[in-house]
Amino acid sequence: MKPSASSVRLRLTLWYTSVLALIVLAFSLAVFLFVKDRLFRQFDRGITKEFAAVAIEVAEDAGDFGDIESPSMFEVFRGGVSIFRSASFRKAGLPESPGVPTAGIRTVRSGGGERFRLQAGPVKSDRFLVVAQDEEPVWNALHTLLAILYLALPIALLLAALGGYVLAGRLLAPVGAMARQAEKIGAESLSERLPVKNPDDEFGKLAAVFNQTLSRLQSAFERLQRFTADASHELRTPLAALRSVGEVALQEDLDVTAYRDRIGSMLEETSRLTNLVESLLVLTRADSGRLPMNRKPADIGALVGKAVEDLRVLAEERNQNLTADLPAGVLVSTDEGLLRQAVVNILDNAIKYTPPGGTIRVAMRGQPGVAGIEVVDSGPGIPADQRDKIFDRFYRVEKDRPRDAGGVGLGLAIAKWAVEANGGAIEVESREGQGSTFRIVLPK
Ligand code: ADP
Repeated sequence: MKPSASSVRLRLTLWYTSVLALIVLAFSLAVFLFVKDRLFRQFDRGITKEFAAVAIEVAEDAGDFGDIESPSMFEVFRGGVSIFRSASFRKAGLPESPGVPTAGIRTVRSGGGERFRLQAGPVKSDRFLVVAQDEEPVWNALHTLLAILYLALPIALLLAALGGYVLAGRLLAPVGAMARQAEKIGAESLSERLPVKNPDDEFGKLAAVFNQTLSRLQSAFERLQRFTADASHELRTPLAALRSVGEVALQEDLDVTAYRDRIGSMLEETSRLTNLVESLLVLTRADSGRLPMNRKPADIGALVGKAVEDLRVLAEERNQNLTADLPAGVLVSTDEGLLRQAVVNILDNAIKYTPPGGTIRVAMRGQPGVAGIEVVDSGPGIPADQRDKIFDRFYRVEKDRPRDAGGVGLGLAIAKWAVEANGGAIEVESREGQGSTFRIVLPK
């Protein structure tokens, strides 16, 4: 396993063991205090019983107490003065009581340091009895308990830490496997995916999310590759044309008019190239999100009307009837440059694809909350199965159609992006053989 993973493993184990140690310590302390309390209560009950038994004998005794046959340690006071101490009391080395001790139970230490429990109380009106018992058996039991806890605690913690370390290792194993697999994934192997053992646990979810990201990356990468390939292909055609026109012109001995003619067609190819490069630039900037947007309220009717007038000359060249019905005063917050680009691309298509003599109508069709710009033509229409694809980059309905008639298939892709960047959408309706309607819908 990699160092990073094992450090997580180590940290997990340390945390787990520390928390467990605290819990076990607190638990042991509680057990110790509970057992101690229980043992002393029991011990005190015993000494109280013994006190009662000795008290009866002391009460009944005539005066010398020597006959009392109790192995207990006891001392008798009368009038504040100690008058008798049992043999065992004396042997225990308990301190001499200064005067009559107070009634009740307490612990005292002997001269040798042993602890004794004393129960004291009056017996008869003039007699006072003190009974003592060695606490050693209780403390022995408590020390045994402590010894067991001292010994068991570290062993339990060690076992728990070992178990935790092994368990953490097993739990984190999928991370290591994922890291190893992820390391192998590069631009050439974007189709590879991480193993998902259990899709319901956290690692499974992580792997699934990572795999989704890979899928998105893969399709973005493939789109980019297709785009680059298509772009190179489209660039090659006008470049080849330029080159061949130039080469042929150089080989021939031509008059000035013929040279002008060749230069004219070279310039035509150059402007086609320029348009293509500009379109590519727009799309590349759009993809990287670097095109600055400047949205402000604009009169849509005026904006579209200006575009129509700019392109009217193209329609006139083709004897088309281009009409515009555009009310003024419809304000929409938009980036004027981008919207104009979209309108020009759609209108340019309508003029390009509608046969000479056809009609093109530009109108505005608003609905509550939205503004709609419609370009209706009487062109060939678009086959139903291709209506979605025409917005793809480099997609053209008739691939083998002469280039003079159409562009390279970027116009609608740019229009779609420009409208969507303005928060709108493009819709297309078409009847094959009868014409198409392109509609730009913008939120007001
Ligand atoms: P192009 O540069 O080839 O015009 P576009 O992206 O603008 O590329 O259009 C994509 C394709 O959609 C065109 O090749 C054309 O076949 C079809 N198309 C676009 N507009 C129209 C229209 N008004 N009538 C018929 N077909 C159209």
